[in-house]
Amino acid sequence: MYYEKVDLLKNIIILENQWATKAIYQVIEDTEIKNRNGYFKTEDLWRIWWSKKNDRILGQNEGKHIRYLNELKQLMEYYKLCYPIHIGSLEFIVPMLLPSEIGRELPIMNHEDEVIFVYKFEYLPSALFYQFITECNELIDGDEDFKYVSSNEVGLRYGNASALASKVTIGGNEGFLFQIDGNNVNDFIWLSSQIEKRLDNLKKGLPELGRKKSFPCKCNFCRTQAITERSFFDEEDIEIYKENGKKDIYCHKSRKFIELEKLTKDINGETEDLTNLQIPKAIILSDDSDKNFLEKFKTHMALLVREELIELWDEASCILAGDLKDEKFKAALDSADIIFILASSALLANHDIDKELADKFERVEKEVVVIVPIIVSSCLWKATKIQSIRVLPMDETPIDKSSNQNESWHEISRQIRPQAERIKTKVNARRR
Ligand SMILES: [Zn+2]
Repeated sequence: MYYEKVDLLKNIIILENQWATKAIYQVIEDTEIKNRNGYFKTEDLWRIWWSKKNDRILGQNEGKHIRYLNELKQLMEYYKLCYPIHIGSLEFIVPMLLPSEIGRELPIMNHEDEVIFVYKFEYLPSALFYQFITECNELIDGDEDFKYVSSNEVGLRYGNASALASKVTIGGNEGFLFQIDGNNVNDFIWLSSQIEKRLDNLKKGLPELGRKKSFPCKCNFCRTQAITERSFFDEEDIEIYKENGKKDIYCHKSRKFIELEKLTKDINGETEDLTNLQIPKAIILSDDSDKNFLEKFKTHMALLVREELIELWDEASCILAGDLKDEKFKAALDSADIIFILASSALLANHDIDKELADKFERVEKEVVVIVPIIVSSCLWKATKIQSIRVLPMDETPIDKSSNQNESWHEISRQIRPQAERIKTKVNARRR
């Protein structure tokens, strides 16, 4: 196996496919993680992969899996076997271990105007729905206490639009059912297009799934039936009807005609461009003596700034001459969506990170802010609250210890890009 696309993994070639597979299955089959409905932390991976017994089972030298803990964890994410509970978190969920039912009704579903469609598959790999959940993880509806997700259903939200995706069987075919609703057209279109886009992402690397989109009937008779029991109209057929100027389609169950308009609603409209959305504010916390690192970081973030994925601030750009230094910077920190910490021994010596950022670390848990620590030089960051969040570089090698610092910075900006995109999406969903 050779994983070119996965950042950490590109440096290693896993010669023994089974070696990695076995290790990952130990996580999925772990009793404690099962009992927690799929929730795990890095500590669990230590527990599972550390023991001598484990080495005996897997026939490996002592500590081998532990040595590759980061790579194995990334492999799990790559295969969409788990997702972080929020952006940048070190706590994960294995969707296949979630309970089978959500147990709560979604807030604004079953609206008259909701759009319902089904994707039926000729071939449906059993893990595809879990992968869909993982692919959509930052759109999952709910708050820190409760998330609308089970192993068979997931509620998604963007602003004033919400969607319920569930696994169904219709006429012997397995498929995914989507019910999308929302009273804000832009939000509705954005959410619909994201669902399509993320389904497309799942196809990569899979054999042809034979996906077919169809719409359930909405005639007065069918409305009284369960969705899976209604008449279904294939998208292709509807298109042909529309091209021929037809306005109605015949329902075999009620033997009545139904307006085409009612079935599809225009969900293929223009996607709201990310560039039209509010730009998340990112602030860099660094020590004065680390100016060279700060400049390098800013250089490598320039493209993301130009693409308006983030606004980048550092202490100098927050403070105008004569302003009270601390006040301005504090205010900027308070309103930040992302905080980059350039961690070095100088920064840790001059700042009591745990104290100064105490409320920020709390807000990370509440998903109000994302903290991204970047280890620029060797320091005792593991003795601070930084150890509770994911750091960059992924392998935790300080940048000044890297044989190719430029490459390290480049790698970091590549890691930050998808995070920035997701944060931009999320920040805008929250502000509506
Ligand atoms: Zn009907």
